[in-house]
Amino acid sequence: MKVHEYQGKEVLERYGVRTQRGILATTPEEAQAAFEQLVAEGQQAAVIKAQIHAGGRGKGGGVKFATSAAQAKEIAENMLGMMLKTHQTAPEGQLVRKITVCEALDLARELYVGIALDRQLGLPVLMACAEGGVEIETIAEERPEALLRLPIQLADGLTIKQAGEAADFLGLDGDIKSQAIEFLQALATAYLELDCEIAEINPLVITEDNQVVALDAKINFDSNALYRHPDIAEMQDIHEEDAREVEAATFGLNYITLDGSIGCMVNGAGLAMATMDTIQLHGGSPANFLDVGGSASEEAITEAFRIILSDDNVKGILVNIFGGIMQCDVIARGVIAAAKNVDLTIPLVVRLEGTNVEQGRELLKGSGLDLISADSLDHGAKLICESVKNR
Ligand code: GDP
Ligand code: MN
Repeated sequence: MKVHEYQGKEVLERYGVRTQRGILATTPEEAQAAFEQLVAEGQQAAVIKAQIHAGGRGKGGGVKFATSAAQAKEIAENMLGMMLKTHQTAPEGQLVRKITVCEALDLARELYVGIALDRQLGLPVLMACAEGGVEIETIAEERPEALLRLPIQLADGLTIKQAGEAADFLGLDGDIKSQAIEFLQALATAYLELDCEIAEINPLVITEDNQVVALDAKINFDSNALYRHPDIAEMQDIHEEDAREVEAATFGLNYITLDGSIGCMVNGAGLAMATMDTIQLHGGSPANFLDVGGSASEEAITEAFRIILSDDNVKGILVNIFGGIMQCDVIARGVIAAAKNVDLTIPLVVRLEGTNVEQGRELLKGSGLDLISADSLDHGAKLICESVKNR
């Protein structure tokens, strides 16, 4: 699960990680008041930042300096409600609903630090780079020697020795080095305790007055561990999530939007993957991954069908069910109910196998629905790809 920059900073502050102070605003008036608040705290200028779940905001016009309350208000007027485009958003951009008015810091240096899971090692790895504010993926690819990588043992956390090594790599010494060591250890503790997937500070800055501060924070949490962190789970901003995925989750469906044209309804994650592969093999491309699970109700199946059809990119649907615990007649009833509710105008191929398959097939046959029955996954995938291609 992703959270906004301001929430990431809030969480890190709890662990003693020093972050750039910011005040959340959702209206131009709030932005103006926030600027005045910062002035009362001794600031002279502010940086106004769009809060969306995507990086690269600066380049897209989502990070702007303000030197007066009036200017802060004006920037907020333009930024709130804008479709912010960055290399991480959809082409049409992402709607800005919230901004933060942050203290403007004088920067002496911008660095990069981040912790991410290394699946090969099976451990989190601390990454550090002396060049901050740039795209770290590019550096990792083009000049891997510019990126330090230190595996973090789960039992030890990030040791003082490792944190010191990272600080040396970043060219820090004296008091700044001590601050950096503390910063990195606190970051690693937060990462481990909160079941993070990514905790990235880009940039980590050294200010003109020699403070080590997180200017940005990108924290992703492991969704499967959120039950351990109810306060973090509450931070989810559904406006930033794919609407169909959110809806599907409320019905216990495992749904992920993809960019192809064939809607898939399958039970079991493995079978869903195999179905997507087989569609690709026949020259098609899946519009979604959907695992309806082992024991979906008729209602959930109806919902799944409706969610697939709500995607305008879907030009055909393949239902592929291997009935085990999931019974084919339940699936058939769900498909029929859903197809009757909506005006089904695209090809539908159904392949049923397993428990109660005869009843399922009978139900479909008797439903009067215009669907194509397939007798194997390969056959079904081929049929739906051909139907979609010929339209
Ligand atoms: P991103 O573009 O989404 O990664 O947003 P960031 O929060 O990282 O901000 C982008 C860039 O704006 C940073 O890399 C900095 O160069 C600059 N920036 C942000 N806040 C400040 C600030 O307080 N002072 C200065 N001098 N630059 C800032
Ligand atoms: Mn950044």
